[in-house]
Amino acid sequence: MLQVKNVTFGYSKTKVLKAINFNVETGENLAIIGESGSGKSTLLKLIYGEYDLKQGHIFWKNQEILGPKYNLVIGYDFMKYVTQEFDLMPFISVEENIGKYLSRFYPEEKQKRTEELIKVVELEAFAKTKVKLLSGGQKQRVAIARALAKQPEILLLDEPFSHIDNFKKQSLRRSVFKYLKDNNITCVVATHDKNDVLGFADQLLVIHDSKIIEKDTPQQIYNNPKTPLIASFFGEFNVIEPYGIVYANRVKIVKQSDLKAIVKHSYFNGNNWLIEADYNSDSIFIEHNSALLKGLEIYLKISL
Ligand code: ADP
Ligand code: MG
Repeated sequence: MLQVKNVTFGYSKTKVLKAINFNVETGENLAIIGESGSGKSTLLKLIYGEYDLKQGHIFWKNQEILGPKYNLVIGYDFMKYVTQEFDLMPFISVEENIGKYLSRFYPEEKQKRTEELIKVVELEAFAKTKVKLLSGGQKQRVAIARALAKQPEILLLDEPFSHIDNFKKQSLRRSVFKYLKDNNITCVVATHDKNDVLGFADQLLVIHDSKIIEKDTPQQIYNNPKTPLIASFFGEFNVIEPYGIVYANRVKIVKQSDLKAIVKHSYFNGNNWLIEADYNSDSIFIEHNSALLKGLEIYLKISL
């Protein structure tokens, strides 16, 4: 189990994180979300042991994670961290980068393991390519595979799919997160993409104003967003009295009701349209299966 106990931290006098407490069970996937600058990367760095803690403690199993004051080399063998910068060796190939820390005394095992990981990150076609020739997204995938090479017990991922184009993203996410589950690898992932969270995280933690403002399953947080900030992470929403926060996909257009609105604009959304309408001289957003003419009177029903 990973235990983060009462951690408060700042780079200067200003505190970036205040009184952070949470646990992650072995094999669990914990996602951390929060606005840019809210301290997600800082929290991962603290878990990794990149800084000394003045307040609070972090443990993996019974081992306390200590910073540079206590460790000549930062980090521990049981933990790997894929940073937002993913520093790779540019002049050697993808497979050499991934196998770099595997023993060369077992060439067959090394080869097998490297091939397995290249498959996990779907880079088969690039195994022999020099890393400097890869795109940002491909490099990110090499960094993930390299972090997995020596079977860490815990993996820290910082916005792991941010550079990867949409064609690949979904299948890659499934592949990587499935590999982690199958191998019982504990994972902490910082992200601003709801698709990294919804289908994969066991727990979701929301950081705002230096503190944890929410900690629960993604389903629970999605269904009961406590603040507009949390709802905005998941999609378009409205604040409608007396209902509170209502996602655009929960506002339905009906034949007749007390809620009358006038269509202002229809935005094509792929599998539906986002309708912006005027309701009590404010905008209301509705997901609908077709575009609607500007000026049309519609009636709405909230289905929570
Ligand atoms: P996030 O990953 O959520 O975008 P960060 O953890 O990177 O947030 O940053 C949190 C805050 O700490 C920001 O205000 C950022 O400017 C500051 N910060 C991050 N790294 C450093 C650093 N090495 N030195 C000083 N301030 C930093
Ligand atoms: Mg960050």
